Amino acid sequence: MNEYDTELAAGLLVKEGYQLTTEDSKADAVIFNTCSVREHAEDRVFGQLGSFSHQKSVDGRKLILGVMGCMSENYKTGLFKRFPELDFIVGTRNVKDVPRVLSRVIDGKKRQVALDEEGLGIEYSEFTRRGSAYHAWLPIMTGCDKVCTFCIVPKTRGREISKPAAEVTREVKRLAGEGFKAVTLLGQNVNSYGKDFAATAVTFPKLLAELSKISGIEMISFTTSHPSDAVPELFEVIRDNPKITRRFHLPLQSGSDKILKRMKRLHTLSEYRAKVDLLRTMIPEIALTTDIIVGFPGETPEDFDATRHALEQIGFDSAFIYKYSARPGTPAEALVDDVPLEEKKRRNSELLDLQERITESRNLKLIGSVQKGIAGKENVRVSGEIVLRTWTDKKIVVPGAAADLGKIMSARITKLVNETFLGEVYCA
Ligand code: SAH
Repeated sequence: MNEYDTELAAGLLVKEGYQLTTEDSKADAVIFNTCSVREHAEDRVFGQLGSFSHQKSVDGRKLILGVMGCMSENYKTGLFKRFPELDFIVGTRNVKDVPRVLSRVIDGKKRQVALDEEGLGIEYSEFTRRGSAYHAWLPIMTGCDKVCTFCIVPKTRGREISKPAAEVTREVKRLAGEGFKAVTLLGQNVNSYGKDFAATAVTFPKLLAELSKISGIEMISFTTSHPSDAVPELFEVIRDNPKITRRFHLPLQSGSDKILKRMKRLHTLSEYRAKVDLLRTMIPEIALTTDIIVGFPGETPEDFDATRHALEQIGFDSAFIYKYSARPGTPAEALVDDVPLEEKKRRNSELLDLQERITESRNLKLIGSVQKGIAGKENVRVSGEIVLRTWTDKKIVVPGAAADLGKIMSARITKLVNETFLGEVYCA
């Protein structure tokens, strides 16, 4: 979602005549698009803001500094107190306001703010500066109505709002017309899409089925899903529509029912496993990925063991594993953060090692198989090679050229190197 917001802001600025640069030293303005989901993400922005502020106040560099995204929502004008050199803040629902706010600062106005509590904030813009000519990010809903106690997203992105289905369909058709082959539908809780449309009753499965009919679009993915909205009807639509990718990202967070309850995840481990079993029965080739938090308040060695067992038993294709950090204003902030940092690090690395072995053993089973994918990019290290991204979100390096990019191809996997496969183009 943040990547999309950045592409949108960049596109809107270019449309107004600004030029983008990748060199810090050449910039007249630096705008940070920020994430608040973990402390570490914010700390990095604080460090950078400190260093650019120093260039302004101490070195006398003429520079406009702006912050957009979740940190604007999290700290609001408090950011100006901490960084007096900061010129503007723009919230998650105000990306379209970036050029206007910037021009006010250029006109000499100080400490500009665009923070709306309401609104979708994901209006499609034909000016989005997309990073690929074949694959497009497409937000279809924003915000989250779930109540996970560790999570800051409801504070920074607000309540769930879905983009009307007719608009989503129109945009995907437009992308198809522009030559895009693949879209990734985005939402903080994407499979909750449409719950706010009592009248039209377009649910996420129905939307997916509708989008699958659009010719020109060959590959449809989505992220991120909450287990309680992962329903059999959704699995059926995936099974019945070959354009929909075979990767399901379904955050588990913990394998301990006690911790899941404290996190207010709204399910037990066995309920989660029942969904995964059903999904795997219905779509045997599905690749399952997850998110895990270690060191949530009150996580004992036994709770941690339960998570370790869950990873061993479920056998995810890959997992993001995070150390818990308390987020301002979340319900869990009130709990005692009682797992010491060293222990969080230890649990984190133990699970990373375990998952690496599981990922490798699952990947090794794919050697010799034929997989379909989209030719996404050229191999940066070796010329004459391209990287296929498969329907199960694996990468296969095959011989190819720039002219192949954007094509749907099949490859036979010959070898595994770390998490990347090598293969040969397969013609049926
Ligand atoms: N539904 C969201 C999830 C984003 S956050 C979305 O896609 O927008 C991604 C992951 O970060 C979560 O699944 C969780 O595992 C982790 N996370 C969230 N809050 C956290 C916290 N306070 N500390 C550590 N990890 C956290």
